[in-house]
Amino acid sequence: MHECCPVCGLKFEREPGYFLGAMYISYGLALFTIVGLSVLLWIYTKWSLQKTIVWALLLFVPLAPVLTLLSRVLWIYLDQAIDPEKPLE
Ligand SMILES: [Zn+2]
Repeated sequence: MHECCPVCGLKFEREPGYFLGAMYISYGLALFTIVGLSVLLWIYTKWSLQKTIVWALLLFVPLAPVLTLLSRVLWIYLDQAIDPEKPLE
């Protein structure tokens, strides 16, 4: 992840611990993804609940970095909407 936006120069990590808020979004996205994967697996395989959840968790692991990045981007959008910071000139 870049330190600043290459286009407008906006500093992404405004202060230490800034991305702590993104963890809440990440948690929600992860829960939503795991439940979604579980439902899809259950529909197509009719496995037991335990097996379905274990496989959904295993399938989720490679998606974790993408969701972390996505949650940070969503966090920056949310933060800029509430408390905008002028990008560097
Ligand atoms: Zn920008």
